[in-house]
Amino acid sequence: MEDSQILIVGGGLAGWRAAEAAVKDGASVTLVANGAGNSPHIHALNCPVLPEDSVRQFVEDTLAGGRYGNDPVLVETMCRESLSLKEEFDFDGTLIRPLGCSVPRCVSIRHAIGPVAIAGIKERLKDQVRVESRTVTPEELVALRSARPEMPIIIATGGWCGKYGFSTNPGYMKGDGLRMAEALGAATKDVDEAHVQYEPTVRVEGPRRGIPVITTLLYEGARMLRMDGRDLLPDTRVNKDALSRAIFNAGGYAWYDLTDVPDEKLLECKMDLSERMIKVAPAPHSSLGGIVIDPSCHALDQDGNVVPGLFACGEVTAGVHGYNRLGGNGGTAAMVFGAIAGRQAASERGRI
Ligand SMILES: Cc1cc2nc3c(=O)[nH]c(=O)nc-3n(C[C@H](O)[C@H](O)[C@H](O)COP(=O)(O)OP(=O)(O)OC[C@H]3O[C@@H](n4cnc5c(N)ncnc54)[C@H](O)[C@@H]3O)c2cc1C
Repeated sequence: MEDSQILIVGGGLAGWRAAEAAVKDGASVTLVANGAGNSPHIHALNCPVLPEDSVRQFVEDTLAGGRYGNDPVLVETMCRESLSLKEEFDFDGTLIRPLGCSVPRCVSIRHAIGPVAIAGIKERLKDQVRVESRTVTPEELVALRSARPEMPIIIATGGWCGKYGFSTNPGYMKGDGLRMAEALGAATKDVDEAHVQYEPTVRVEGPRRGIPVITTLLYEGARMLRMDGRDLLPDTRVNKDALSRAIFNAGGYAWYDLTDVPDEKLLECKMDLSERMIKVAPAPHSSLGGIVIDPSCHALDQDGNVVPGLFACGEVTAGVHGYNRLGGNGGTAAMVFGAIAGRQAASERGRI
């Protein structure tokens, strides 16, 4: 990384979006990652594409979904900037309605927008980014900061739900980025149980234990049943948070009944048609707290001041989702804030 102008830690969607934006603005970049993170699982993300939808409606849904614990300026930024994704990507017409969204807003490319987007970036960047596969430590960044104070560092290490035993995240996603940021003087917030998003419908049995079954099927005829076969709620099309609570209150497990979901809807979601009754439980899925940032992705200290040369983006940051992340907003946040962080770091390189 000695001859690079910018260091990015994290090789998920946020990290790669930052890399692309920084390279586009003429910066030389090293990206270090110890795995693929959660981004390869992103099948769809939110972008207001319908005529009856709007940035305002997207903002309102996101704030209401987060029970108004979000940072409104970050939410505004994400929703407004998401519009540019329409020009950037050739979405394939799939449009689904995540729980808690007032209209269908989740767009995709072959139900795999995360991996498709990252593959596209890698293809476009070819050899322009130096990539290192290894684990970065807070101590390493502190040493780098004192040796190369002019070099922007972007932390894009994703969430911390991997620290829980039964989780949808890989075990190495334990929140290393939070400790890196703190070691460099940045503040973190909302790193607590109240800011863990549970995915309500995670398989508990078989070889696919820990893999979630998509909740949007609740708009396509799927039902949630208690273990004794009774309906879990009169209407299960509530947000993920409320659904998880209902399952916990019913004893911790539920049946996800796909009997009445049309075959084509299951196939669209890459489901096995023979699987119609799946035992599920809520599992930690997305962390909602993390590094405190401003809308330009500068990391902030305890007093709200910019920590010079330090940026953060994606799931490692706090504030966008409040107490509950709407399905599809993880991908949108990674796309939008990844690009902002890359541009901002490129514009400040060499003059920190
Ligand atoms: C099963 C599943 C399905 C999901 N589906 C969707 C969806 O359809 N739509 C949606 O919007 N959101 C979805 N999400 C949420 C979404 O995946 C995340 O919000 C998003 O991927 C975060 O991107 P990121 O780049 O911030 O982090 P990640 O993609 O998690 O990347 C983090 C990177 O940091 C690296 N890293 C971590 N620590 C270190 C270290 N110490 N040293 C070096 N590298 C490090 C990791 O190896 C990885 O490369 C899903 C999540 C899961 C778990």
